[in-house]
Order: sequence, then C-alpha cells, then structure tokens
Amino acid sequence: MAYDNNNIFAKILRGEAPAFNVYEDDHSLAFMDVMPQVPGHTLVIPKDPAADIHAADPVILGATVATVQKVADAVKAAFAAPGIMIAQLNGPAAGQTVFHLHFHILPRHEGLEFRMHARDMEDAEVLEAHAAKVRACLQP
Ligand code: 5GP
Repeated sequence: MAYDNNNIFAKILRGEAPAFNVYEDDHSLAFMDVMPQVPGHTLVIPKDPAADIHAADPVILGATVATVQKVADAVKAAFAAPGIMIAQLNGPAAGQTVFHLHFHILPRHEGLEFRMHARDMEDAEVLEAHAAKVRACLQP
C-alpha cells in the first residue's frame, strides 16, 4: 500500500497533531491510543514511513519491536496487568484503519473484556493520567 504522508500518525510524528506521548527514541515513538479498547491501550510506531509490516525495513522493524517490549514492560507495571496483548493489523481486510505501521499494547485482566476497536474517544485528562503512569514505569 502506498504511504500517505498526511495520515494521522505522520502528523503526530511531525508535531502537527497532538498525542499523549510515553516514550521516544531515534527510531520510534509510543503514545496513548485516543480510543482505547482498555485503560492503558498504548501504540508504538516507527518514525520511518511504512504503511504496514510488509513495507517496513526489517532492521527498523526489529528496533521497533524492541521498543514494543520496553513499553509493554512499562504498561504491564503501570496497570498491574497479569496479561499483555500485542496486536498489529495490516490492510483494511485485517481491520487496519491508520496506514502507518503500528503495534497495539493492551493490558489485560481476567474478566475485563476489551471495547470495540477505534470507536469511543477517551477524555484528555484520563489519557494524560494514563500516559503519566506509563512514563513513570519506563526505565531511563
Ligand atoms: P488500526 O485500526 O490501524 O490497527 O489502529 C489504529 C488505532 O489508532 C486505533 O486503535 C485508533 O483508536 C487509533 N487512533 C486513531 N486516530 C488516532 C489519533 O488521532 N490519535 C491517537 N493517539 N490514536 C488514534
């Protein structure tokens, strides 16, 4: 799929759209999903412009997955989650709605079902509080 420079995650990377960031390094950025399926739903994206996993440079993909692990550790601690679900969708048929490669990190608790994908917007104060909790659990 061709990469669209005006997708929402490209705008977040350029600072043209707001985000509740939790982590950034040379190759990746992590921030809260604005329509979380569970409290603490966090996204990790490479800075490189790839629409999906098929278009990604394998070296950058590896570095992005290392960031996923780091942020998932922090999300697990921040939300005292016994389980962490990692999701990654490619193509509309798989449910992808934003065409910049990203990984979903979802803290899971027994009996707590997750909400519909990309449906209900969370309040900004809640998202900022959740981002602060994750940031506090990230090693420097
Ligand atoms: P996909 O459907 O492509 O796997 O996931 C896209 C995710 O991006 C969804 O979970 C959706 O809630 C989230 N999302 C859509 N627009 C925005 C936005 O403007 N900011 C943030 N932080 N997340 C967004």
